[in-house]
Amino acid sequence: MIIAIDGTVASGKSTAARNIAGRLGFLHINTGLMYRAVAAFARRNGIPTADAHRVAACAKELRIDLARTSAGQRVYVDGTDMTDEATAPDIGPDVSNVADNEAVRAVLVREQRRMGLEAGDAVLEGRDIGSVVFPDAEVKFFVTADARERARRRLEDDRKRNPDITLDDVLEAIIARDERDRSRPVGALKRMPGAIDVDTTHNTPEQTLEQMLAAIGRMRMGRSS
Ligand code: C5P
Repeated sequence: MIIAIDGTVASGKSTAARNIAGRLGFLHINTGLMYRAVAAFARRNGIPTADAHRVAACAKELRIDLARTSAGQRVYVDGTDMTDEATAPDIGPDVSNVADNEAVRAVLVREQRRMGLEAGDAVLEGRDIGSVVFPDAEVKFFVTADARERARRRLEDDRKRNPDITLDDVLEAIIARDERDRSRPVGALKRMPGAIDVDTTHNTPEQTLEQMLAAIGRMRMGRSS
């Protein structure tokens, strides 16, 4: 079974996907981390992410692996752990350039499909999972939360690495990224017909998990009847 989770920045998609995968024994594929890894690799090698041709050429050559560890999901590029660089607070604009790059998207989407099909049972999270990567996914979720609450959650993470960052800085960045995610010509964030809406604003991660597991259970019952 393929479970597609799309949604806005910092809405709780990754936590939900990780928890669902853990509970059901499915593979968890964090597709955002793959776009981030390409951006981190470009930065490390002095390739400007605005140079679409050079970034696409290098994305075709890279091997990107996702691994589950006790410290959460990690991303490796050609065998090197790039997770810290890929999640650095200031990487946002470079990641957006990479995510706007249609040739990079084609490479990563093909890889995401391969990983999902090989696993058979997988939870994929991102922006275009239900629309592009797995339009036939058995279950599709669309996860959102109030922007201020999302900024508050992201601030906790970002402060660990940049103590001077403020809530307003994070809120502004989140709103800008949402807008860019929704307006991308290919792979834009959108709610697909039939997707199950999940608003995590007032939920604990456990409540979100239970709500989503219940919906998955209902879809499974529907399939078998
Ligand atoms: O989810 P996360 O914030 O880690 O994603 C990083 C960036 O990659 C996002 O800003 C989004 O623009 C992009 N992305 C995408 N398609 C996906 C997953 C992420 O364009 N399937």
